[in-house]
Amino acid sequence: MFLKGKTAVISGSTSGIGLAYAKALAAEGAAVMLNGFGDADAIEANRAALEQASGAAALYDPADMTRPDEIAAMIDRAARETGSVDIVINNAGIQHVAPITEFPVEKWDAIIAINLSSAWHMMRAAIPHMRTKGWGRIITTASAHSLVASPNKSAYVAAKHGVVGITKTVALEVATDGITANCISPGYVWTPLVENQIPDTMKSRGLTRDQVIEDVLLKAQPTKEFVTIEQVAALALFLCRDEAKAITGANLSVDGGWTAQ
Ligand code: NAD
Repeated sequence: MFLKGKTAVISGSTSGIGLAYAKALAAEGAAVMLNGFGDADAIEANRAALEQASGAAALYDPADMTRPDEIAAMIDRAARETGSVDIVINNAGIQHVAPITEFPVEKWDAIIAINLSSAWHMMRAAIPHMRTKGWGRIITTASAHSLVASPNKSAYVAAKHGVVGITKTVALEVATDGITANCISPGYVWTPLVENQIPDTMKSRGLTRDQVIEDVLLKAQPTKEFVTIEQVAALALFLCRDEAKAITGANLSVDGGWTAQ
């Protein structure tokens, strides 16, 4: 329970990796604020289970990560209702797969807003709260695509490279404030985000569903296995430990060796 008394705000935590972060942090006593979209009953069930696991508050805020005003209000609400904002995890993300010439402009705008700009707005709103306590952890889910590209993912690759740049810069700005800022870059993790991109990848590369899974998703990782949500969450939990305070401005891969190639 090393996170007792701390509050974590996690964008995009109604499913996938974000929900795994919430579970890992709550198991160590953190109050968590869930965010994202989805079935209201499922969100409430997750919220209640997190509260039971942590023995601390668990909140849900429906802030839309395309809306800076809603992001700032969510951070302020977490501070008001729990007493602090100590950990921020920028995790909300969407994907669209298409060649650049056929890439809808509104999809570019949405990916840049949700996957890139929201991280900047979250950090900007949370850092003043962290500074009042002299302690903070900023973690951003980047991707192997923050280091290497894949065809037909121009917006996603741009956004993921971008969050690494924001993270490095902010790590320098808060270096003497007891706050660290790091990215975690997973390889392919079997979540709705990955499952939903299979039809577009089939179309853009002329492959079957099985070929996409075997020859695109699993082949990216030398281990030939999907990364699991728990493996990603375990690294986030470690970054919250005091032993990790010298790790800042880093982009840490959890990708089965993908980007070592
Ligand atoms: P997911 O689809 O399970 O989760 C995405 C979350 O973002 C959901 O909670 C969703 O409701 C939320 N979200 C989407 N649009 C939002 C908006 N406008 N406002 C607020 N919340 C919004 O997918 P995931 O794979 O768990 O993705 C989480 C993060 O991990 C993303 O940033 C993604 O790019 C990154 N990532 C995923 C993989 C992978 O293989 N799954 C690999 C590397 C990085």
